[in-house]
Amino acid sequence: MLEEALYRYFHYKQFRPGQKEAISSLLQGKDTLAVLPTGTGKSLCYQLPAYLKEGTILIVTPLISLMEDQLSSLQKNGEKRGVILNGNLNEQDKMYILEHLMNYKFVFLSPEMLMQEKILSRLQLVEIALFVVDEAHCISQWGIDFRPEYRNLKQAKKRLGNPITLALTATATNEVKEEIKTVLLNQNTDEYYDSVDRPNISLSVIQSKAKLADLKKILTNAKGSVLIYCATRKKVEELYYQLKNKYTIGYYHGGLDSSQRRLLQQQFINDQLQFLVCTNAFGMGVDKPDIRTVIHYELPDSMENYMQEIGRSGRDQKPSDAILLYQSKDEKIHYFMQQQAQQERELFEFRLEQKQLINLTELQEKWLRQIKISGKDFFLAQLRQNETEKQKKLEQMLGYVRYNGCRREFLLKYFGETLTEVPDRCCDFHGISNTSIEVKNFNFSAERMHWQDILLKMFKEEK
Ligand code: ADP
Ligand code: MG
Repeated sequence: MLEEALYRYFHYKQFRPGQKEAISSLLQGKDTLAVLPTGTGKSLCYQLPAYLKEGTILIVTPLISLMEDQLSSLQKNGEKRGVILNGNLNEQDKMYILEHLMNYKFVFLSPEMLMQEKILSRLQLVEIALFVVDEAHCISQWGIDFRPEYRNLKQAKKRLGNPITLALTATATNEVKEEIKTVLLNQNTDEYYDSVDRPNISLSVIQSKAKLADLKKILTNAKGSVLIYCATRKKVEELYYQLKNKYTIGYYHGGLDSSQRRLLQQQFINDQLQFLVCTNAFGMGVDKPDIRTVIHYELPDSMENYMQEIGRSGRDQKPSDAILLYQSKDEKIHYFMQQQAQQERELFEFRLEQKQLINLTELQEKWLRQIKISGKDFFLAQLRQNETEKQKKLEQMLGYVRYNGCRREFLLKYFGETLTEVPDRCCDFHGISNTSIEVKNFNFSAERMHWQDILLKMFKEEK
């Protein structure tokens, strides 16, 4: 019985929703797509089969920090046969690992590493029990985290003799799920979805005219741990300095070095810091069950990211709150970042045309390698498509902010679900109010027509 194996290898008494189904499907030799909310335990879907099957588990993950998290959780469980193949390894260590691949049960690597001929040809010599693609939504140009390198995984999979594949992701629209299946999985695929809904998290948006003052009111009344998300590192630090004299607060973003990040994370987890102001770099792999409130001080760039970020609260299933503070024109920062990304791409195209491939940025270097694999026109079309998608996603996020109906209904519709039951503490439309703040909603009537149009269109497309 699978439950016995679960207890024997991990000491858990029962499966979380979706785990058992995904694992059984893999053990039957089927490619599997598991869309399960953040924190459910997606990693277990490959960890348990690893102990029940011969051969190596190959795990493709977009970020080194995610690899480290997963490896260290395996190690805590007594597993010594895990390794990370990353770009920072020196040649000697890399060769050692490649020559001893048979000795490792879990091999973590990025999609870029997997495309290196030296690595791929070595991997061809070992028996791959399972090919795992974590954060599989990165494959989709319709998605918010499109990573062109993920497109090569199809080719890599073929070179590895089409091993059984497990695609994992937390938040995917129907469009993205379809794309994962066509690009990555065999015809005969099993799929397991759990609802993205988190009924214990209330949803509210505060139209604010003075965000800092409103934020302080919330923090002063807050009970329990609070995460405050900003869109940029600069804003994170700025806000931190505005708050640090009054609150036990820390800040966290991808620009800090890894030992600093670990320390901050630990202090927050141990309740030495009640508040943490951060970018979306915080959260991946962080397992704190009792975060009570997630505040967005700046607008998220998409519903997908918003869902991921608020999903860090209330893992213990107790009542929690997601509050988005919106001040008119907050979207500007995202328009700016989108424009910058577009300019980088346009400059790249120009340099390609002129055959002037010098002084490329790191990202442009990566694009160049990608072009050699997937072809220029196809690749550039994908980049452009993804830019358009990101604009659309931002508009949909704004649609959520300006929506004057049930927020949960909106959110679920976005992910292709319907709300069947309104929970007790649903949203501001359903009477949740943040008593510390006098909520003044602006009148959007002038814009309303426009946003209603967007919503109607979006819901139609979902069908
Ligand atoms: P995800 O990738 O879905 O965000 P992780 O795989 O990182 O989540 O797991 C989150 C946490 O849940 C980990 O601490 C893991 O040990 C724990 N976990 C996973 N499965 C179970 C289970 N069946 N019972 C109890 N805890 C579990
Ligand atoms: Mg995960």
